[in-house]
Amino acid sequence: MSENRACDLCGLDVGAKPFLLHTPDKQYQFCCEGCRGIYEMLHDIKEATPDNNDNQPKSS
Ligand SMILES: [Zn+2]
Repeated sequence: MSENRACDLCGLDVGAKPFLLHTPDKQYQFCCEGCRGIYEMLHDIKEATPDNNDNQPKSS
């Protein structure tokens, strides 16, 4: 049994409170919000956010 506590982006220890990212595929863990954000961008992951306060209506 090996505990995987490595950040999925940079490989650092995520510590006791990892930043989690849920995808339909699997759950990722990161050492900080920055790593999570970068990973989201790199893999084009859209995490469902229940509280959407985005005041930028997209007009196309
Ligand atoms: Zn990291």
